[in-house]
Amino acid sequence: MTLYLKYRPQQVSELDLTSVREAMTKYLESFFKDGNLPHAWLFSGPRGLGKTSAARILAKAINCQGPGGKDTKAKGDFEPCNECEMCIAVTSGAAVDIMEIDAASNRGIDDIRELREKVRLAPMKAKYKVYIIDEVHMLTSEAANALLKTLEEPPGNTIFVLCTTEPDRLPETVISRCTRISFKKATLEDIVSKLERVAKAEKIEADKQALEILAKAGDGSFRDAIKLLEQAGLQSGKLDKAGAEKVLGMNTQLSADRFLELVYAGDAQKALEFVGQMVEEGINLRRFIERGVELLRERLLDDISNGRILGLIEGLEKAYERTKTTAVPQLPLEIFIIENSKTQASKPAEVIVEKKTEKTQKTESAKPSEEVKYELGEMQDKWAEVMKAVRPKNHSVEALLRSTKPLGFDGRSLTLEVFYKFHKDKLESEKCRRIVEVAVGEVMGVDGVKLFFKLGEKPARTSKVENITAEGVDEDIIKAAEDIFKAEAV
Ligand SMILES: [Zn+2]
Repeated sequence: MTLYLKYRPQQVSELDLTSVREAMTKYLESFFKDGNLPHAWLFSGPRGLGKTSAARILAKAINCQGPGGKDTKAKGDFEPCNECEMCIAVTSGAAVDIMEIDAASNRGIDDIRELREKVRLAPMKAKYKVYIIDEVHMLTSEAANALLKTLEEPPGNTIFVLCTTEPDRLPETVISRCTRISFKKATLEDIVSKLERVAKAEKIEADKQALEILAKAGDGSFRDAIKLLEQAGLQSGKLDKAGAEKVLGMNTQLSADRFLELVYAGDAQKALEFVGQMVEEGINLRRFIERGVELLRERLLDDISNGRILGLIEGLEKAYERTKTTAVPQLPLEIFIIENSKTQASKPAEVIVEKKTEKTQKTESAKPSEEVKYELGEMQDKWAEVMKAVRPKNHSVEALLRSTKPLGFDGRSLTLEVFYKFHKDKLESEKCRRIVEVAVGEVMGVDGVKLFFKLGEKPARTSKVENITAEGVDEDIIKAAEDIFKAEAV
């Protein structure tokens, strides 16, 4: 059994998040005083914060028979005794009236229909039947609607606890039927104190600094932090700062920052190896991507016209989406690396690295193209020229470019605002992209330009670049579409 499961809370007072503990106390106190109990609950928040544990504690609390089994509990005592038959059955997952359903694998309408049939049956042993539906946002919309009907006409003696990491994906109608408890990312102190308890019980001699390092890496998740402690503690039974860092792979600079530098510098090989290493070490790749996007966002806010960063953010967002459906966990990141470092691969040491090594490079013969400072305005001024250069190569690409607008340019990367998804898809194809990249390079006198696209709102008529295309934008779009379809049909 993992340490996380071994030390999962068994009572309300053991719930790790203060806000959750307080909310549960309030509702259960009211229940044991007046008999009022919400029949539908929504536990929302990131994974690893104890939503399922809390749901089980709720199931035990309302069904506990007290030690000895004959409702021997003191009046108003809402804590489960963890000794009676009921409590033991729930803890071990054997209680027939407490159903845990994983919506990720039972997401269809038939599963929910079946559930609705069974919901009508009275509980067999417990006072209350409890349905714990995990990852409830994974239900198909049809299934979610069927569930909603059940929530609207709640059968007596039945409680639903819907758990989700992505409440935004639930229909508002479902959310509004539920009493909601938000599980917010744990604070550092919350996690450290939990780690201290686990370490003590496991007889792992850990110093506070080491636990803080692990707690930080757990990034608000008890589960992740405890998993790290487990890896660290199992090796020696002792844990200091160096040991904690070793577990995290910090000595090999295993961090989103390092990874992004590799991609930014175009070092695809090292970046791929880096991902392989993360997989081996059991790093949560989704969380890793989240961190990467956060880092890039911070950089973007400091440098809003940097199209390269914007492009990387879009690439990572796409990779993040893909992690939900991929059969190979690291594949989305690998695609991201290949897509975002290919044009740079022949020229390592680009922008970020360039800044850092500025001093050492000054002694070398400076490359002229790196001395020039590029302005977006210049790009916009020359945009008509770029389109002119594209035209002889492919006039449908030129037509597509007529309804785009340069949004960012730094001499290396150009971000174009595109106003129709259809255009974006076409322009993003390898063939079209290359044509434009080459033309931009020719006109601006640089090489290795990389193109990024951003889907924007409908074009503003007042923009400087828009003047070029003021006449007949829509006609161009239609014509471009026709051209492309013709070209592809051949
Ligand atoms: Zn009990």
